[in-house]
Amino acid sequence: MKITVSEIEEQGLDLNFSERLSRNSLLESEGPVTARLRIERRGNEVVIQGEIHGRIALQCSRCLINFHRDLSLSVDLQYHPASEVAREETYEVPREEIDIGFYSNDELDITQVVREQLILSLPMKALCDEECKGLCPVCGADMNLQRCECKYESVDPRLEGLRKLLSK
Ligand SMILES: [Zn+2]
Ligand SMILES: [Zn+2]
Repeated sequence: MKITVSEIEEQGLDLNFSERLSRNSLLESEGPVTARLRIERRGNEVVIQGEIHGRIALQCSRCLINFHRDLSLSVDLQYHPASEVAREETYEVPREEIDIGFYSNDELDITQVVREQLILSLPMKALCDEECKGLCPVCGADMNLQRCECKYESVDPRLEGLRKLLSK
């Protein structure tokens, strides 16, 4: 869903967004991602405020199982024309305005905005459960479901060098 910035009227725009994010877009949703957004334009600066809800497909970084997580977030964002950055050589994003983005060609892609915000709200490493035991490094068994007979040591990589030295 794209909007033309110069067409946002004085009184602003209330947008009901509902789109399914597909697998090939970095983030896949189960069912549609919905958002209620208030969009206002101040000069060529666009302010987006509202709520985003969605059920996102994730893969556990320990046991590789696929799972879903419901995300709800509120956003308060500012978008500036990208040409502004090119013009002012020493453009600096003010420290307190972290949620700042850029648009180009008078066009703002709301799908992109929503996707970015969801991605930013995800943890670096998704876990199906904080207590997830992961996979056995030897046989690959899911240790949440079974206990295998494999013997392995988990060695602190910092101690590995020392151990090699001692075994010489
Ligand atoms: Zn897991
Ligand atoms: Zn094993």
